[in-house]
Amino acid sequence: MHKECPVCKQKYDMEPGFWYGTGYVSYALAIAFSVATFIAWWVLIGISVSDNRVLWWLLTNSILLIVLQPVLMRLSRTIYVYFFVKYDEHYESSEPRKFDY
Ligand SMILES: [Zn+2]
Repeated sequence: MHKECPVCKQKYDMEPGFWYGTGYVSYALAIAFSVATFIAWWVLIGISVSDNRVLWWLLTNSILLIVLQPVLMRLSRTIYVYFFVKYDEHYESSEPRKFDY
């Protein structure tokens, strides 16, 4: 990951431990993804206590979460930074966002 945006020079690590909060965003994304795959599995394949279909969903969902981890990580960082830095169409003439201490 870059230290700052190559276009607008926005510094990404705005304070020590800034990215700590992305863990919560990533967790929420993983839960939302798991709920979505569970509902899709329920509708398309079905869930039953008399066979192992729910375990196959669990295994499939786990593999998908591992495979999609790089995407989810970047998406959670993007969502998290948008909490603090809004899009500025006049970025060339304005200063990058900084936290005031
Ligand atoms: Zn930028």
